[in-house]
Amino acid sequence: MHTATATASLDKPAHTRLELFRSSSPSERTVVHVGPVAIGGNRPAIMAGPCSVESYEQVFSTAEAVKAAGATILRGGAYKPRTSPYDFQGLGIEALEILSQVRGETGMPVVSEVLSTDDIEIVADHVDMLQVGARNMQNFALLKRLGQLQKPVLLKRSPAATVKEWLLAAEYILAGGNGHVVLCERGIRSYDPQLRNTLDLAGMALARQLSHLPVIADPSHGTGRSDLIPVMSRAALAAGADGLIIEVHPDPANAMSDGMQSLDFGAFARMMGELGW
Ligand code: PEP
Ligand code: MN
Repeated sequence: MHTATATASLDKPAHTRLELFRSSSPSERTVVHVGPVAIGGNRPAIMAGPCSVESYEQVFSTAEAVKAAGATILRGGAYKPRTSPYDFQGLGIEALEILSQVRGETGMPVVSEVLSTDDIEIVADHVDMLQVGARNMQNFALLKRLGQLQKPVLLKRSPAATVKEWLLAAEYILAGGNGHVVLCERGIRSYDPQLRNTLDLAGMALARQLSHLPVIADPSHGTGRSDLIPVMSRAALAAGADGLIIEVHPDPANAMSDGMQSLDFGAFARMMGELGW
C-alpha cells in the first residue's frame, strides 16, 4: 500500500498535483457559458461565421444564414494573424463594432481573436468570448492577462504543440483565476501539401480525456479545404467534440481570408441538415 502511494507521488512532479485542467474522473466535465449558450453540455455548440469581418452586410447576412441553419455562436476575425505582413490584417475596432451591432440584432453571442495584450480590453468590451489563436498559444503574457478576466476564452492548439503543451497553456488561464476555458483542436502541421493542416482527432480525444474542459474542433483550419469540412465535422462529433467552429462566407471565392476553407450559406445549411440539426 505504502509503496504504491510513494511510487505514484514520485511519478508525478510536485507541480502536476496542482494542475487545474485535469479531471479527477471521466464524469467531471466543465460547462462554459457564452451568453445563453452552454459549451460542454449535452448538445454540441456550433460556432460559425467569416474568417475575417469585411463589412456590416457580410457579417449580418452570414449571421442570419448560420443562425437559421442552427449555429448559436457567431465567429469573425477583427485582428488577423496573417503569415505575410502584406495580407489583409483585419478591420480592427471597426470590425469589433460591426460584430457587436450584429450580436445585438441577432442575439448571437460573438467570439473573436485577441492578438495582443494591448487589445484585450477593447476586444473584451465588444465580444462574449476571446479567441487565442494557434500562433499565440504559448504567448504567456497574453494567457496570464486572460487569466485575470472572468470571460470565456477559446484556446486554439498550436500546429506544433503536443497535447501536454496545449493543456499547460490552458493552465496559465485557469491558474490566474479564469475557469471559463474551451479548447479548440484546429489541425497540426503534417507533410501533405494538399492539406493545410491535419485535424488531430486523436489529440482532441486525448485532451478531452485528460481534462474536464470542453474541447471543440475546427475543420476549416484543420483541413484548409471546404470539401472536407462536412466529413471532418461528422468525425469530430463522433469522437466526442463539444462543438465545432466553421468558417462561412457569402462568397468564399472572394473572401479577404481563408476562402478555400469557407462554406457558402447553402453548403453550411446542407451540412447542418446532414448532421441532424
Ligand atoms: C482563425 O480562426 O481565423 C484563425 C486565424 O485560426 P488559427 O489561429 O487556428 O489559425
Ligand atoms: Mn481563418
